[in-house]
Amino acid sequence: MTITCDVAVLGGGTGGYVTAIRAAQLGKSVVVIEMDKLGGTCLHRGCIPSKALLRSAEVYAEIGESESYGIETTGVQLVFPKVQRRKESVVEQLHQGVQYLMRKNKIQVIKGKGRVTGPSIFSPRSGAVAVELEDGEMETVVSANLIIATGSRPRVLPGLEPDGKVILSSEEALTLEELPASMIIVGGGVIGVEWASMLADFGVQVTVVEAAGQLLPQEDEEVARELQRLLKKRGVKVLTDTLVDAASCEVTDTGVTLTVRKGEQSQSLAAEKLLVSVGRVANIENIGLENTDIRTDKGVISVNSNMQTNEPHIYAIGDCIGGLQLAHAASHEGIMAVNHLAGEKLHPYRQHLVPRCVYSRPEVASVGYTEKEAKVLGHDVVTGKFPFSAIGKAIVYGMKDGFVKVVADRSSGDLLGVQMIGPHVTDLIGEAALAQLLDATPWEIGEAIHAHPTLSEIIGEAMLAVDGRAIGF
Ligand SMILES: Cc1cc2nc3c(=O)[nH]c(=O)nc-3n(C[C@H](O)[C@H](O)[C@H](O)COP(=O)(O)OP(=O)(O)OC[C@H]3O[C@@H](n4cnc5c(N)ncnc54)[C@H](O)[C@@H]3O)c2cc1C
Repeated sequence: MTITCDVAVLGGGTGGYVTAIRAAQLGKSVVVIEMDKLGGTCLHRGCIPSKALLRSAEVYAEIGESESYGIETTGVQLVFPKVQRRKESVVEQLHQGVQYLMRKNKIQVIKGKGRVTGPSIFSPRSGAVAVELEDGEMETVVSANLIIATGSRPRVLPGLEPDGKVILSSEEALTLEELPASMIIVGGGVIGVEWASMLADFGVQVTVVEAAGQLLPQEDEEVARELQRLLKKRGVKVLTDTLVDAASCEVTDTGVTLTVRKGEQSQSLAAEKLLVSVGRVANIENIGLENTDIRTDKGVISVNSNMQTNEPHIYAIGDCIGGLQLAHAASHEGIMAVNHLAGEKLHPYRQHLVPRCVYSRPEVASVGYTEKEAKVLGHDVVTGKFPFSAIGKAIVYGMKDGFVKVVADRSSGDLLGVQMIGPHVTDLIGEAALAQLLDATPWEIGEAIHAHPTLSEIIGEAMLAVDGRAIGF
């Protein structure tokens, strides 16, 4: 059977389903082709399930600290299968929501594996999608425009291939029914750090092995140092500048052993389980790109600033084009693609203005350039910094670790970046992102009145600190 529509979306993850909704809003007839579940990685194997587990870990940790709030507890018990059931119900609630949005916007969803075809009798130009349905039948979707949003999967390190039992990727880790006593985490990026923080809160012994000189290698050095200090305080062993010798990995009766090396020194690590979190690989194989003139570069689909591939009627968005590989980046790119194909005015996409968040305890968030990046770009940099320990509400909350750092250009006064570590900074970063989008200067943001007592006061103070005008420290 052949289905025709204005816009076909290959992949119904965060990028894909948001793209579809925007296209429907613009009056287009839309088909989404999804081989698994609407919501993709973010909803089923990424953002949402991991944050649901992190929330349980946070509650558990806070109960452990309850005496400092004057609350004595007894008989507290962590029942991990129940933690998993809560996670599943959060995911399912949102999954239902996405399905409802498809119905509400009259978007046709086809469950099956899609492959882009070349020119044929159905479609004189490449870009139709042949869909293999679950029952083995085939359907063809012919559209004026195609948006490829096939996402990504965990990168596998040769020698440390996940077996789903002892060696895990983030996908298997999310479905553990029992917590291990100990875990080695290979990779101290966002996923590795979130897992380290969560497992530490659940009482698991954690060792993080990171090849770079700091955790979160893309983030500000001071933030990474503070994070490492705070994780260590909670018992997490962090090994930076350290390489794993994958060939040495052995699965034993009790777990896994692995040799790691820092310079000339090597040491053997042992744990019940090992999590490999060393990045993501774009899903660009077996989707028919060879039938098109679409170009790829370093494993991702190449697009221009409108998200168009080398075939102008075919767009690509989200993790399959690389870049930041974040859910909100994927949906923004999808909206841009649809706005472009519909002839709407586009605002230039400035990737450094995409907020980056880590949901560890404490959280980390940033937007714009770090001090180091700004210097490399040739700015005469001035910074302002303010600690949470001088913010009333942080003390009331018992969460006074961390700080906000503002990076600005000394001569123009332009705001170049904001980095944060501390309580609820993943929510606070929105103000900094808006400020940068609107080209506000630190002085202007400092002039905005922040309510007292709120955590947001720290943003005003850190902005004022750029000119040495912070009040509370
Ligand atoms: C553990 C973890 C935690 C994360 N946490 C965060 C976070 O807190 N915040 C954040 O912003 N990002 C987070 N991410 C990243 C985020 O999940 C991704 O950036 C986001 O899902 C990308 O969306 P996407 O639509 O490009 O791809 P995906 O969500 O991967 O969706 C792609 C979809 O395409 C489908 N598909 C692929 N090939 C085909 C085909 N041939 N035919 C039909 N369907 C196909 C797949 O089944 C999938 O549903 C996290 C990721 C992980 C792994």
